[in-house]
Amino acid sequence: MGTSDPAEVRELLRVGPGPVDLSGIDTRGTPGLPGGKAVRRDPKGWSQGELARMGAELAGHQERLYASAKVAGDQRRVLLVLQAMDCGGKDGTVKHVAGAMNPLGMRIVAFGPPTEEELAHDFLWRIGRALPAPGQVGVFNRSHYEDVLIVRVHGLVPRRTWQARYNKINAFERDLVSTGVVLIKVMLHISPEEQRQRLLDRLADPTKHWKFNPADVAERQHWPAYQEAYNDALSRCNATDAPWYVVPADRKWYRNWAVANLMLAAFTDLKLGYPEVPFDVAEQRARVEAEGSGTPRATGTPGKRKMNRR
Ligand code: AMP
Ligand code: MG
Repeated sequence: MGTSDPAEVRELLRVGPGPVDLSGIDTRGTPGLPGGKAVRRDPKGWSQGELARMGAELAGHQERLYASAKVAGDQRRVLLVLQAMDCGGKDGTVKHVAGAMNPLGMRIVAFGPPTEEELAHDFLWRIGRALPAPGQVGVFNRSHYEDVLIVRVHGLVPRRTWQARYNKINAFERDLVSTGVVLIKVMLHISPEEQRQRLLDRLADPTKHWKFNPADVAERQHWPAYQEAYNDALSRCNATDAPWYVVPADRKWYRNWAVANLMLAAFTDLKLGYPEVPFDVAEQRARVEAEGSGTPRATGTPGKRKMNRR
């Protein structure tokens, strides 16, 4: 049958040490995909089924993470960082993968051009304010990496300024990891042809017009400069405990499946259980049972409860 070990899928997607060349990674590839008839016959349907199964598992891990923070003060959290070219599938990934979890335990943040207030601070300021709290699962739709991507491609700051940011990002992420943040940094890798097709698809369907951004057409002209900027970000900010993953993303069904695997692998490492509670369960059960059924009554003498007067 068709399941894989998430840890093995993760190994295949992990960016190795040294220089990165995205042009050598097939955007239509399917690393780690199981063989099997069911997968070959109907990859989309198979992926949907697998996503439902993995989604339920993710939801279980997430609940234990949330419970451990709430009851036992566990500081750990998971942060999925999504980066991609325009139309790369960040929104779809949030919908399909993050959508499987409980909104109550999530913090999803999209980063656009910085506001005036944000520009008045260091580039990591707005990132620090958007982090998931202990017990939460965070998702960044774009991130601090824009500050060495679009900012570099368009020369929005002097070269020496963005050059200095790689080390700052590494130090920042090292800090995050040391305070219990599990970082999953994912670059959704699409081809320029796939991007063009997605732009055309958006224009062809009136219910998708709202997704079309005319600025994306101009941005496409900078494709090679972006790939170069990505290559540098992926190789220069690729620490052992904050590694990058490149997910071939021309096929949406593979992309969703792969990112779900990355999240599952991370959660599995955390070995989350339900926390010990700070009360005696038997004692509490006896109290509740002693009440009997029906509407609870106030204990103590009725009518003697006074309003709090000052
Ligand atoms: P979207 O993700 O389609 O909503 O677009 C958000 C836009 O904000 C993209 O064009 C990003 O490149 C841009 N953006 C995000 N972060 C920054 C940043 N730090 N500086 C400049 N532009 C940014
Ligand atoms: Mg866009």
